[in-house]
Amino acid sequence: MADVKKIFAAFGPILKWNEPLARHTSFRIGGPADAFARPHSAGELAALLRAARGASVPVFIIGAGANILVSDKGIRGLVVSLERFREFSVIGTAVRAGAGLAASALAAGTARAGLKGLERFYAMPGSVGGAVWMNARCYESSFSDTLASVTVLDENFAVATVRVQTSDFDYKKSPFQADARVILAAEFALSPADPRPLRTVMREIERDRKTKGHFLAPSAGSVFKNNRTFGRPSGRLLDSLGLRGRRVGGAQVSPRHANIIINRHRATAEDVKKLIDLMKEEVKGRYGVELDWEILYVGEE
Ligand SMILES: Cc1cc2nc3c(=O)[nH]c(=O)nc-3n(C[C@H](O)[C@H](O)[C@H](O)COP(=O)(O)OP(=O)(O)OC[C@H]3O[C@@H](n4cnc5c(N)ncnc54)[C@H](O)[C@@H]3O)c2cc1C
Repeated sequence: MADVKKIFAAFGPILKWNEPLARHTSFRIGGPADAFARPHSAGELAALLRAARGASVPVFIIGAGANILVSDKGIRGLVVSLERFREFSVIGTAVRAGAGLAASALAAGTARAGLKGLERFYAMPGSVGGAVWMNARCYESSFSDTLASVTVLDENFAVATVRVQTSDFDYKKSPFQADARVILAAEFALSPADPRPLRTVMREIERDRKTKGHFLAPSAGSVFKNNRTFGRPSGRLLDSLGLRGRRVGGAQVSPRHANIIINRHRATAEDVKKLIDLMKEEVKGRYGVELDWEILYVGEE
């Protein structure tokens, strides 16, 4: 810890030491980051990453923390949040959004501007950066469907624009998962539309998420990916085994949705992991298939 403090001493005003990551995850679970930074600009980010690389300090980029389970011991090294990168601009049908902007705010902003293509991401927790990295998918729309290019800080700490096409992406897969580029902003090509039906879609989606209990307790959304070869969504397999409501410590399978685990009361990452193992075992035992984690487990084992 002393070393990390020395390495990043020059970045004092944008750094916190020993920052509990439970404050930065939708699960409200996670031990401390040795150092937690919130840079204001690409230049500041590049300086931080250069210092980290020079001293071999590991780096983790956190979005809104809505798809991660952080270990109880936390994350060693430097955690960087891009929450200050919140630009939003519209030129004609082209939209540019900073990585730290909430995906839901992007959906609302584009709908207000009379642009169609992102409205189904309304009310989905998470940032634009996280949604690009994960290729988030909601109500039959993938984030990659309207993505035209992504502005990144590349592995040499230079700002670069990467043109993308839908075929570069897959279900929950993006090209950014293969390397350490940091997503700074994303550019979308949308189509003009009347804002009123877009507002209706957003209201319906919000209502549906509320019915499924998405906002009743801390969670990280779907625990397991869907897999076409299973013939049914993972939630249905879990539901058929009566897993709703099952508890390990403070973690519980949501009583409203069998593919969501909620932090019922002071759950630890260990509680969640044990519950996930139990769910996997029951599905394997009954159906002979292996469920694949959608949530990402990060941090010190
Ligand atoms: C109630 C609830 C409902 C949800 N519903 C859905 C849903 O319908 N569909 C869906 O797809 N997901 C859903 N999720 C999961 C989550 O909202 C998405 O996966 C979201 O895209 C995660 O974004 P994030 O900013 O929180 O990323 P994080 O969880 O913070 O990070 C996810 C990954 O992205 C990387 N990352 C984040 N930002 C950057 C960046 N700027 N540069 C490089 N790497 C980065 C991180 O390192 C990490 O590996 C739900 C979650 C909750 C809590």
